[in-house]
Amino acid sequence: MRTPRSVREADVAGKRVLVRADLNVPLEDGKVADDTRIEASLPTLRYLLDGGAAAIAVCSHLGRPNGPDPAFAMAPVAARLRELLSDGRVRVLENTRFDPGETKNDHESAKRLAEGMDLYVNDAFGSAHRAHASTVGVAELLPAYAGLLLERELEMLGRLLGEVERPFVLVAGGAKVEDKLGVLEHLGGRADAVLVGGKMAEELRGGSQLPYDAELPSDVVAAAAFGAEAESRVTPYDALPEGWLGLDIGPETRERFGEVIRGARTVFWNGPMGVFEWPRFAEGTKAVAQAVADAEAYSVAGGGDSVRAIQELGLADEISWVSTGGGASLELLEGKELPGVAAIPSA
Ligand code: ADP
Ligand code: MG
Repeated sequence: MRTPRSVREADVAGKRVLVRADLNVPLEDGKVADDTRIEASLPTLRYLLDGGAAAIAVCSHLGRPNGPDPAFAMAPVAARLRELLSDGRVRVLENTRFDPGETKNDHESAKRLAEGMDLYVNDAFGSAHRAHASTVGVAELLPAYAGLLLERELEMLGRLLGEVERPFVLVAGGAKVEDKLGVLEHLGGRADAVLVGGKMAEELRGGSQLPYDAELPSDVVAAAAFGAEAESRVTPYDALPEGWLGLDIGPETRERFGEVIRGARTVFWNGPMGVFEWPRFAEGTKAVAQAVADAEAYSVAGGGDSVRAIQELGLADEISWVSTGGGASLELLEGKELPGVAAIPSA
């Protein structure tokens, strides 16, 4: 994997720096509901301030507006950032997606971002798989460097692409099956065991298209309908009653997956094992999260919902690396070059 040059190689003293951070946090009632990504952006900002940067403009997208939309204004994010890091040299620009040119990587949009700036630092790992004006266009107009979080994400996830300690166990679940087949194909062949749960396992019931043997559930928590309170019972994976849905892995599968994960020396987990938002279908995800945390392994977890489950269970500190990037971590592990990284000159 190519290493982009680091902000640590830049001379930032007296410079006006544009930072593309990933401040795309969940909002609730107009307030920041989870500030993990804001926290994760602080080391680079502190590094620039300590290095004597004259001014820092931080930009990010927030949600998916197609133009100006007050519901996605950056004000609550900027307020939270100021609470965590108060320095008059830092200002937060308005949502990059208020400019319709952002997602088209429009040249004029990139020029507006670059105007008045001396350097560009990309620290937005979670957006590095998108070629937008704020992740790619602007890197062609200003001297570009990788921020500390972006570097660390590439290093920690990149370890899975090289030689790993074995057994190497890959755990896949969640709902976005199409998005994930690429990772399963790329990494799965190198893993000693591939455990599949969630809706992923439901889709493979008709026969796996994977070019190796994946371990599927042996039992599932089946529900008569898709609902938190639906009638439910444990059934064998291959004997799901007609019209019923498998909404979690069953107790026997939890036990077996847990054992394999605890014996691993390297683990990558993406995707909940069930509809963990509903308590009755959350046990499989809990069991896998706990096993990943218990394993004496280099453990990496990625994906928005998987990370949310880990945070809710308070297990983040027991996992070697919890990635801030969902799609970006998957594309990296698929072996793809991320456009936001490719746009930064090599180290
Ligand atoms: P991540 O964000 O971690 O990459 P996904 O977005 O692919 O994961 O999938 C998360 C979603 O998958 C959750 O909302 C969860 O409810 C859903 N899910 C998991 N298992 C099932 C299942 N068996 N049937 C339907 N939905 C499922
Ligand atoms: Mg998700």
